[in-house]
Amino acid sequence: MNEYPDSDSNELRRIIASKFGYEPENIMISSGADQMISIIVNAFIDPGESILTFTPSFSIYSLFTRLMGGKAIEVPLGEDFKFDYDEFIKAVETQEAKVIFICSPNNPTGGIISREEIIGILDKAESIVVLDEAYIEFDENSFFDLIEKYPNLVVLRTLSKAYGLAGARVGYGLASKELMDILYKVKPVYNVSSISQLAAKVIIEEEEYVNKVIAEIKEERDKMIDEFKTMENIKVYDSHANFILFKVEDSKKVFDYLVDKGLLVRYFGKEGPLANHLRTAVGTKEDNARLIQALKDLEEG
Ligand code: PMP
Repeated sequence: MNEYPDSDSNELRRIIASKFGYEPENIMISSGADQMISIIVNAFIDPGESILTFTPSFSIYSLFTRLMGGKAIEVPLGEDFKFDYDEFIKAVETQEAKVIFICSPNNPTGGIISREEIIGILDKAESIVVLDEAYIEFDENSFFDLIEKYPNLVVLRTLSKAYGLAGARVGYGLASKELMDILYKVKPVYNVSSISQLAAKVIIEEEEYVNKVIAEIKEERDKMIDEFKTMENIKVYDSHANFILFKVEDSKKVFDYLVDKGLLVRYFGKEGPLANHLRTAVGTKEDNARLIQALKDLEEG
């Protein structure tokens, strides 16, 4: 531990590149996907310039942009948080955004955007497009292959979710070599510790175990959604991630009730499109059963 880490995480890059059938030059390893977002914003957003994204989505895109003195243009999602393709394309054409952030599967709604829609955005965009696939292992369709056709596309991935390595802080970006050349100019040196690089290599080798855990989470998620659907006072949204968004009559009341029972879900406050919504992680079988039972008990009074 007295030596500095490999600054560009070369061995890890090679392992990940070969997993995708790309060259190490197409990959950047970062301290969580959060750092990739920060590097992209640092590279492309000057004060007064804009990013384009939709809302509700992962708030870090807008937060990092504002920290750089930039502006975030946020197109609202449509009914039931479905992606509003027409409105978004209008914004792509009329707003001069320097970077477009698309999160699919989307945090916190769990919804996805189709390949056709992503291609539609890429065909119209004259900016950098970031496709955040932090939760993609819980869905079927990654669109990372689009980096071959679109040199302005960065696909983000993380080991924090499906690989269970959030504490090690390892994420990565996939993009064309031209785009990576620019991003490497901004990457902080020694951005991933040697312990984290090692932890990432070990977990990536455990593919069979990771796939088993993913399959279990997906099965539990679908079972929980079915349970939610049986409850009259709850509206549940379909999820392609490892969490579930649901709507209740009074989210503060339900949140406090669950906390009293030792169950912590995400509360989104009283204002905005997520008012009266809560989000739960898909946890262990036991935790999930406890949550469902607590909500059923509440419904039955
Ligand atoms: N993107 C999305 C959509 C996320 O939800 C998160 C984590 N909450 C991240 C990126 C960042 O993940 P990490 O920095 O842990 O890799």
